[in-house]
Amino acid sequence: MIIFSGSQGNSKSRAPKMPLPGLIPSATLTAKIGVLMDIALRIDVDTFRGTRDGVPALCRLLAKFEARATFFFSVGPDNMGRHLWRLLRPRFMLKMLRSQAASLYGWDILLKGTLWPGPIISRYFKQQILAAAAAGHEIGLHAWDHHAWQAHVASWPARELNYQLQRGLEALAEIVPPTCSAAPGWRCTESALLAKEGWPFAFNSDCRGHSLFRPVVKGQVLSQPQVPVSLPTYDEAIGRGGVTPTNYNAFLLKRIAAQSFNVLTIHAEVEGIRHRQMFHDFLAQAQAQGHKLVALGHILPASPVMARGAVVRGHVAGREGWVSVHSPLTDEAQQGNHAQSIS
Ligand SMILES: [Zn+2]
Repeated sequence: MIIFSGSQGNSKSRAPKMPLPGLIPSATLTAKIGVLMDIALRIDVDTFRGTRDGVPALCRLLAKFEARATFFFSVGPDNMGRHLWRLLRPRFMLKMLRSQAASLYGWDILLKGTLWPGPIISRYFKQQILAAAAAGHEIGLHAWDHHAWQAHVASWPARELNYQLQRGLEALAEIVPPTCSAAPGWRCTESALLAKEGWPFAFNSDCRGHSLFRPVVKGQVLSQPQVPVSLPTYDEAIGRGGVTPTNYNAFLLKRIAAQSFNVLTIHAEVEGIRHRQMFHDFLAQAQAQGHKLVALGHILPASPVMARGAVVRGHVAGREGWVSVHSPLTDEAQQGNHAQSIS
């Protein structure tokens, strides 16, 4: 949409003191379309180093721009090295090379949990998690064991799903009780959605999509809404279609200007460490264009009434393997008492 692509935002120096006839002052316009200008920011924290170094750095950056976000913490063992190496297939190798994975993540992340058991992240970095909450950011659970969830969620029985959720929740609640959750790698099944219903999450961000919805599983409308991620991550976009670290921000802002529902995921390990300056520039440019960075909970409507949808398996360009995606239901299913079940 053209309406929020331009520079009508917050440039006080350019805004007329008195509105010209027929013109809406920029501040009023921003207020009118405030929701559309919002970019909901999700920060996935997957690793030991991301929690230690990336989180404090991102908190400083967000404070500078008065931005808010939702931090999703992985609190159990850091076995992400195991996860990355088990994907050593030709296509994944290409992606590793394309995104320069070793320099993007660092060798310590790539080796975590491979030669020795991964460290329990939440035991080391309570201060970093507390500081993010104290700065006004929303706190969510990403995982107890990010690697295990991503690799095995599709085959876990309800008992194991509950165990993983409980361990993660207990570990994080000792520091800051989380209000929401986000499935690692956007991998969620109907069993996982049902398991989450047993825990006090106000909402979840488990899939990719372009609107808020309430998931339906086996005819049951769930109580926890979904906030899907609508924008590509750095590692998905880079090296494809001419996108480079230099023009990535412009690519992203163009996408943001073209759609009304913007939920962006960044990673503490990437935008919080290696590409911190790039993310700083993104925040500056987004602010200059009148966008406001907010936590995911901020874009949920006050009303519980929401479209229903299914969560199904799909793929996104630039990402290895399957991810969960939002599949809107038919009008008939929206109305009916017996919503269609999902696969
Ligand atoms: Zn993650």
